[in-house]
Order: sequence, then C-alpha cells, then structure tokens
Amino acid sequence: MFSKILIANRGEIAVRIIRACKEMGITTVAVFSEADRDALHVSLADESYCIGPAQVGQSYLNMEAILSAAVVSGAEAIHPGYGLLSENARFATLCQQCNITFIGPTGEMIEKMGDKDEARRTMKQAGVPVVPGSDIVESVDEALRLGAQIGYPLLVKARSGGGGRGIRRVDSEAEIERAFLAATAEAQSAFGDGAVYMEKFLFPVKHIEVQLLCDAHGQVVCLGERECSMQRKNQKLLEESPSVAVSPKMREEMMAASAKAAKAIGYRGLGTIEFLLSQDGHFYFMEMNTRLQVEHPVTEMVTGIDLVKWQIRVAAGLELDFTQKDVTLNGHAIECRINAEDPYHDFRPSCGQITMLHIPGGPWVRFDTALYQGYTIPPFYDSMVGKLIVHAPTREEAIRKMQAALCEVVVEGIENNRELQLDLISDERFGDGSYTTDFLAERG
Ligand code: ADP
Ligand code: ADP
Ligand code: MG
Repeated sequence: MFSKILIANRGEIAVRIIRACKEMGITTVAVFSEADRDALHVSLADESYCIGPAQVGQSYLNMEAILSAAVVSGAEAIHPGYGLLSENARFATLCQQCNITFIGPTGEMIEKMGDKDEARRTMKQAGVPVVPGSDIVESVDEALRLGAQIGYPLLVKARSGGGGRGIRRVDSEAEIERAFLAATAEAQSAFGDGAVYMEKFLFPVKHIEVQLLCDAHGQVVCLGERECSMQRKNQKLLEESPSVAVSPKMREEMMAASAKAAKAIGYRGLGTIEFLLSQDGHFYFMEMNTRLQVEHPVTEMVTGIDLVKWQIRVAAGLELDFTQKDVTLNGHAIECRINAEDPYHDFRPSCGQITMLHIPGGPWVRFDTALYQGYTIPPFYDSMVGKLIVHAPTREEAIRKMQAALCEVVVEGIENNRELQLDLISDERFGDGSYTTDFLAERG
C-alpha cells in the first residue's frame, strides 16, 4: 500500500479523498492555487504545496508543477479526483514515467475511452448496444449526408467532450451547417480538439449508469446503477440509486453489458458506463467515464462499499476481497448537488463569503463539502460546493429524508440552488420516477 498520496484536485472531492487516506493510514499531500490558500483541503492534508496562480490552466492543470510537488514530497501516487486531470491521458502517462502511480487506468486506456468516437466503435465491437450515430464527421457535406441517414433530431457531439459541454442539437437539415461549424469551433476552444460525431437524439430518455470496479487481477465487479436523468443543460443535478425504471432483469442485462465492456478493453480501476434508456426498455451505450464520479456516494450508500478506498487499493495492485455475488443493493440513496449559483438569474455563479453555515445531520444523512463558516468562495472554479446524500430503506423514505435535510441546509452569503432542489424532489414526476432528461427544460 502507498504510504503517501498527492491529491491533484480541490473542493469537496479533495476533502473526500483526504478522509479516505487518513482512515487508511496514508499521509496526504495537497496542492493548491494562490486563490485556495484558505481552502479546507489544504488545512486537512498533512502537507501542502502552492502550484500556481488561480486560473486552473496555471495551477490544477499544471502537470509539471503537480509532478514536481509529488517528487519533492515523496508521494508515491497521485489521485486526480474528477474533472481537471482525471481523464488526461498525457498526465497519466507522465506520472508513470516519473515512477508515480496515477490512481486510475493507464494513459492508453483513458485515451481509448476518452475519445468518445473510438469508445463507441470499441463497444460496438464488444457487442454492447450503442446509440445509433456516426463516426467522426469531417465536413458539412458529410454531416448533411450522414444526417439524412441518422434522421432528425440529432446531436452533434465533441469527440473529446465532457461535463455536458460540446453538445449541439439539430432539429432539421437546415440547421446542420451552422451546428456543425459552431460545435467544431466550440470543441476546439473548450477541449483543444475540434473533432465531432453525430448521434440520433433519443427522447424521452433516462440517463442510467453502471458503476464498475476492476482490479489488476482480472476481477470485474458491477455495483448497480445510478439514475442521473435530472439534468440541466446536459449536466446532472441530482442522482439516485437504484433507478425506479430498472427492473431486476434489466439490471442483470445492464451489468452484464458493462462487465463485457470492461473485460473487452481489459479495464482496471473505477469506471462508469453511461447508458441512455429509452421508454421501450432498450438501453444504449453513451460513454465511459474512466474516473471517480461526482455521484459515487449514492452507490456507496446502497452497497456499503467505500469506492475511494477501493480505487486506491486497486491502484496499489491489491485484489478485490469480494466478488459480484457478495454485492447486495440495500435501500435507496439520493444525492442533491448544492451549487453556488442563482436559479432565479439564469443560474449565474455566485461567490463570496459564507457568513453562516449549517449542515444537516441525523442518521443516514451525509454532506460532502469543502465549505466552512467564514470561507470565501473564489470565482475561478466549478460552482458545485456541496453534495447532500441520504439513505433510507425505501425510496419514499429517502425522498422524505432528503426534503427534511434540504430544509435544514443553511448557506448564507451566497446564492445557491437548495430551493430548486426541494422543488425537484417534491415534484410529482420525480415522486413517481417517470422523469426523463428533458424534465427541467419541459418544466421551464
Ligand atoms: P460526473 O460525470 O462525475 O457526474 P460531471 O459530468 O458533472 O461529473 O463532471 C464532473 C466535473 O468534471 C465537473 O466539474 C465538470 O465540469 C468536469 N468535467 C468533466 N469532463 C470534463 C472535460 N472533458 N473537460 C473539462 N471538464 C470536465
Ligand atoms: P458528457 O461527456 O458531457 O457527460 P454525454 O455523452 O455523457 O456527455 O452526454 C451528456 C448528457 O447529454 C446525457 O446525460 C444526456 O442527457 C444527453 N445526451 C447525450 N447524448 C444523447 C443522445 N444521443 N440522445 C439524447 N440525449 C443525449
Ligand atoms: Mg456523460
């Protein structure tokens, strides 16, 4: 096992990883930008290093500075969290070259799955159903030709896209030229890669994903599904496990398809296979995330398995000490993302000092955050500042527990989406589980 790990991230996920390390007896090294001197992850870690100015490009994405901090501190491994460098193949490879374990799959594997076009082809070959669509589209003419084959509406999607960005909807042939050119330009500036492909726009659909955990000894375990259909602009807002829409038989099928996918590519580490589930009960591979996910806590709650600890153990080469047969899904878990943004003003990000903070408690209520009273949220980073997670024997009880817990949350000094979350979980279509990814757009 590693004796020292550097956490190449910030915010709640850095705190989450530091906690896992502490429980495992592993020394922690934090890195931080000039804007994050007072951040919680810095005070919780055993050691910390400033790696550059506030802008992520110069700090949390600065591979040389992060690797230098790892070498200087003697860290044997780097945990990248989510976002930032977590799906950066070059960084994973650089770590390996510096003799530091990247806690995640190999650079090669990240490249294979991070290229969403190649991932689609790989999955098709492995016999996993994929969303109908095209390979890379090179020109407007090709987009027109393929568009006619796929049919409208369709989506133009960035090959290197992520975080819900780089996706454009096209409702008719007349819109395709503009969408293709805009998506290419947007993808080029956001991801440094302008390549796009097209997919049939499926609707109404649910977003269902399967959590995988694979060790270096060929063991593949699926930890049930998460439903992430509650989205705004293709970004997840709240997640739950299990999904009301997934029957035991469908769960078996989805987990079998996911395990097949993982085995086909020799995957190692924590990973997620994302599917779209149509109303006729068919599911289609959408993408694989080769990292820890924001919504991992709901899976932890229903399985009782600490995903971060296992991710670290598997990266250290340890064997899973349980098999698929040992995995049982208990009760129901829901997560609400608490974002520092103003739902009444087009979700504009909000920053500033937290003048009053009250975090809900009680049995089976978890609040993952890096906030503390008096902390000043800097304007440079992601607006997600906390995750409220509850667990109960039934979905009905989990919803009531979430309502009670949300009512208790107090984050004063900034705008946040707590009330929107309350509205969402109290909505009839959430209550009966029939909500699909277009729920927020439809609701207005
Ligand atoms: P998850 O898939 O874990 O639910 P999200 O899709 O919300 O998580 O992404 C997690 C974080 O990573 C978000 O802060 C998101 O903005 C960021 N992110 C994900 N993929 C990318 C990417 N390719 N480029 C930049 N940021 C990304
Ligand atoms: P990202 O890498 O940004 O997470 P995804 O490919 O996972 O991108 O898509 C993000 C979201 O966009 C999905 O959760 C879903 O709501 C929507 N989406 C993506 N592809 C399709 C599709 N073909 N049809 C309908 N919705 C889609
Ligand atoms: Mg996705």
